[in-house]
Amino acid sequence: MAERLKEEILHREKLVDVVAGPDAYRDLPRLLAAAESGQQAANVLLSLDETYADILPVQTSAGGTTAFVSIMRGCDNMCSYCIVPFTRGRERSRPIASILQEVRMLSDQGVKEVTLLGQNVNSFRDLSEVQFQSVAAPGLSRGFSTVYKAKAGGLRFSHLLDQVSRIDPEMRIRFTSPHPKDFPDEVLQLIQERHNICKQLHLPAQSGSTRVLEAMRRGYTREAYLELVHHVRDSIPGVSLSSDFIAGFCGETEEDHLQTVSLLQEVRYNVGFLFAYSMRQKTRAHHRLQDDVPADVKKRRLEQLIATFREEAARANAALVGQAQLVLVEGPSKRSASELCGRNDGNIKVIFPDAELEDAAEPGAPGRAQPGDYVMVKVTSASSQTLRGVPLYRTTLSRAAASH
Ligand code: SF4
Repeated sequence: MAERLKEEILHREKLVDVVAGPDAYRDLPRLLAAAESGQQAANVLLSLDETYADILPVQTSAGGTTAFVSIMRGCDNMCSYCIVPFTRGRERSRPIASILQEVRMLSDQGVKEVTLLGQNVNSFRDLSEVQFQSVAAPGLSRGFSTVYKAKAGGLRFSHLLDQVSRIDPEMRIRFTSPHPKDFPDEVLQLIQERHNICKQLHLPAQSGSTRVLEAMRRGYTREAYLELVHHVRDSIPGVSLSSDFIAGFCGETEEDHLQTVSLLQEVRYNVGFLFAYSMRQKTRAHHRLQDDVPADVKKRRLEQLIATFREEAARANAALVGQAQLVLVEGPSKRSASELCGRNDGNIKVIFPDAELEDAAEPGAPGRAQPGDYVMVKVTSASSQTLRGVPLYRTTLSRAAASH
């Protein structure tokens, strides 16, 4: 956005003193010094190699329980609606050694959940270690294709996931946002085997219509996507799935839209991110396609997708009622100080009363759960977004895994 609107916000509107693009943080001292001396300053250049390797993560939840760790940037996929390849540049991955060092540091600080971050997190490919430069490219998910040639060489996401999950058995590992094309069996197997890698996958579908997926240049059909969903569910029993959808993309007919509705019904996601299509300058769709679905139709289709998603998510979450779920406590619930809030392995919010609880390892020493503690909670009710339950006992991630 900074690049696109630089002229307008600096010169025409004179709205700001400094315009800094996503790769300009190292230049901030110079930009701010220029602004202090009364000049307007801008740096919107995209870097080919910036990975933020030495930037400390922003910790997001109360008590520093969870943290994000950037592992790669950029995207080579060129989906026709997306501006990311133009604003974030080509894919480049952070050296694995620096990622592991940061995760170790977070573990030492008591962080209990790390989310590995990147625009295409599972396309991770660290080329910094020479001995891995000739390793063959892993295969794509069945029925998936890319606009670029297979990239050989480098340490891949499965290796990173393996190494990161070995650092601290009490630390949960998540990752986002992945592309569905890059889920080789070794990644799925690792998620299934490691007790601290959350059984939760984001599989962005965008549409349920093969015709629209082709116009979006997503590189898969509805059938290939569904085959992947079945394979993921077979490989990781009980996996929680989330997805992204766009309503009203260029040329989307009512029939295409109904195919997206039916995909939502068929897959039954636990979490969904749904948006009405909004055309972005510079994208292929902007140059080659027509944003021809009227605004009121986009709105109606989006509402229908949201209603379908919620109905299905409520059903998926209702299946957890009566089950015990391991919850990482994040802090007091926003609505009531007498309740605690946390997330289960599937990243669904769980709320339960703050009460004295036994520790599974030390019976007879009850205490209240603190942010960063793991609590086993029996689910008593569920909505499309939240689970509620009664706490059973405090425990650890390893102990809970061993008792299953
Ligand atoms: S939607 Fe995702 S995969 Fe497609 S171009 Fe954008 S960032 Fe890349």
